[in-house]
Amino acid sequence: MKAVRYHRHGGPEVLVFEDVRDPEPGPQEILVRVRAAALNRMDTRMRSGGWPPPRILGADAAGDVAALGPNVAGPKVGDRVIIYPGISCGNCEFCDAGQHNWCSSYKLLGTQLDGGYAQYVIAPAINARPIPKGMGYIEAATLPICITTSWRVLFTKGQLRAGEWVMIHSAGSGVSVFASQMAKLAGAVVVTTTSTAEKEAKAKELGADHVINYRREDVATRVQELTEGRGVDLVIDHVGQATWAFSIGSLRKGGRMVTLGATSGALHPLNIFDLYRSEISILASGSHTRSDFDNGMRLVHQGRIRPVIDSVFALKEAAAAHQRLEAGLHFGKIALEVP
Ligand SMILES: [Zn+2]
Repeated sequence: MKAVRYHRHGGPEVLVFEDVRDPEPGPQEILVRVRAAALNRMDTRMRSGGWPPPRILGADAAGDVAALGPNVAGPKVGDRVIIYPGISCGNCEFCDAGQHNWCSSYKLLGTQLDGGYAQYVIAPAINARPIPKGMGYIEAATLPICITTSWRVLFTKGQLRAGEWVMIHSAGSGVSVFASQMAKLAGAVVVTTTSTAEKEAKAKELGADHVINYRREDVATRVQELTEGRGVDLVIDHVGQATWAFSIGSLRKGGRMVTLGATSGALHPLNIFDLYRSEISILASGSHTRSDFDNGMRLVHQGRIRPVIDSVFALKEAAAAHQRLEAGLHFGKIALEVP
């Protein structure tokens, strides 16, 4: 099959479009003929210094079931599926409790295991879900990581309630385009941040109540103005070092912040006096569960949230797609069409 792998860590140029042996499904696994994949920030982290090469990237994939391994009750060959990429043992205290991501053998397609930047990928049958009716492979491929992460950070971790104020950074990022829509549906007041007038307009189209241009305005000051000195109830921060100070500075007393990434760097000094006096909670979300995925997907099946596609590249152009993601030019998801 054709696939994109890295053979050493480095910039986008280390991605190689090449022939790789077709994988074969084992017990309780399916072989999926991939039609589309989507990019996530973790792909660029893997490429620059993640799991040892060679590796096929891609946690997000959609396609057709091509073959079944032994003991698969469903789906059937020919079914159009998307794949939830988190894989665990299924047989420990955490798996039994539905916390697959805390399993000591938890793995993710495209990191420890070969992923969707390929014509074929293997996944456990229990990770496959039908593509929503009328939805194409490209749109479907953009869903798994971002739908699941958005549900987890807003609701499973963030406990967002109707009427609350939530600030979601980087309006155009893959997670933010879904999280903004979900937060609006939940009845929250959504504040988002961005860097250009063009992205501001797109964020408002997606339902953001307030968009703060962080190049022109001080975010924490603007948030205090908008909330009349109160601060927001919840902040969703995947930027890290560059935003932690004003994320924390934007919270009301007793507010919550969910941290789920550090694209700008991972070190930030924390004043412990300020932390306990303000009684804020800092929550972490590093992975997710099939239940987060199914909860997010329910909203997609109901037609209440929609994928936002920034651009589509051919699989062999994966390096150009990575360049676009790393340059921060995108609004929404960058997808790969698989030949
Ligand atoms: Zn387990």
